Amino acid sequence: MNAYLIKGARPLGGDPVDILLKDGRIAAIGDSLAATGAEVVEAAGLIALPGLVDLHTHLREPGREDAETVETGSRAAALGGFTAVHAMANTDPVADTAGVVEQVWRLGQEAGLVDVVPVGAVTVGLKGERLAELGAMADSAARVRVFSDDGHCVADPALMRRALEYVKAFDGVVAQHAEEPRLTVGAQMHEGDRSASLGLTGWPAAAEEAIIARDVLLAEHVGARLHVCHVSTAGSVEILRWAKSRGVQVTAEVTPHHLLLTDACAESYDPVFKVNPPLRTDADVEALRAGLADGTIDVVGTDHAPHAVEDKESEWAQARPGMLGLEQALSVVIETMVEPGRLDWAGVADRMSVRPAAIGRLADHGRPLAPGEPANLVLVDATARASVDPAALASRSRNSPYAGRELPGRVVATFLRGVPTVLDGKAQK
Ligand SMILES: [Zn+2]
Repeated sequence: MNAYLIKGARPLGGDPVDILLKDGRIAAIGDSLAATGAEVVEAAGLIALPGLVDLHTHLREPGREDAETVETGSRAAALGGFTAVHAMANTDPVADTAGVVEQVWRLGQEAGLVDVVPVGAVTVGLKGERLAELGAMADSAARVRVFSDDGHCVADPALMRRALEYVKAFDGVVAQHAEEPRLTVGAQMHEGDRSASLGLTGWPAAAEEAIIARDVLLAEHVGARLHVCHVSTAGSVEILRWAKSRGVQVTAEVTPHHLLLTDACAESYDPVFKVNPPLRTDADVEALRAGLADGTIDVVGTDHAPHAVEDKESEWAQARPGMLGLEQALSVVIETMVEPGRLDWAGVADRMSVRPAAIGRLADHGRPLAPGEPANLVLVDATARASVDPAALASRSRNSPYAGRELPGRVVATFLRGVPTVLDGKAQK
């Protein structure tokens, strides 16, 4: 079957229409469409959005297949409504050569559930000492455009400047994990009243803000594209607003967990809430929501970070930072942004599909729902509510910070180039 007739869906929350998918593209949109031979998908009341795009996913393969694989992470992504994910470079071996990024890209093609777009490391081995083979990765079959040492900050300002200059040659972007390492030695949680009372070493907001301020100045100076990963503080939003007002080519992302959770979670000492950058304060959460609403923050990036049980279920100080995100990202955005009226469905499509696809220079994603366009889309039941059960997730890991929490929104179907990867809420392979 290579034709699907979606009946009664609401594109971007608008009036119900039928959408015909044929040969990988949207063939027609209109009232009471008929198509002999097409498989009918009843979608009355469901919201239709362009397939979601994640700029920040850790798929762990190669190297930590016990925590996640390209295939299991792709399945989690499809179930979350994604049709493309960028796979971060901090694998083992590190994705710092054309060979490794091509390997990850091929594994994604074989899994066939989402487009897996490899991110290339900025520096060899993520060591922050010398630039990786950026040009070779850009020219490879994986066509890398996003480069990041995520997990580590490119702390050396001269090296960061050279990376920004270098990627201009192939319209690339450097995605910075903004963390001044000298200010976060031994850090366990956000530095503030709660870290003081819990007796845990703090991660000050200034460690993030100082790097963002430096990097927007460097990006302006050399005329290059900069993307800031997982922005977590109110001060960072202010710096980005200032930089954008100057015309700096900077984009930024916020994670679902930083939109919903605060450092109060650390009081449980449950390591599932340990993450880098750490969960911040109520005031930071409010600033992040406001920044996403007004577009200062361009995109929601999941920072999906699966960890094996032995790396996560230990004492707080020993636990690895990071949490799952792909399967609940849209639900958290509905909870924090849509239901309170801070973002409409067009806004969700913009922040979770259009802008991330544009930053990653993905031609086939983030496109309008219109005839002739690639049939990458998701159908969402926004009225459904369910409690999150980590055991039911498709990810190979279980470190969800939303366990037991009731969240709105259910992905009913995801289509990748006209083929359902998810139907009736179930992965199709
Ligand atoms: Zn990071």
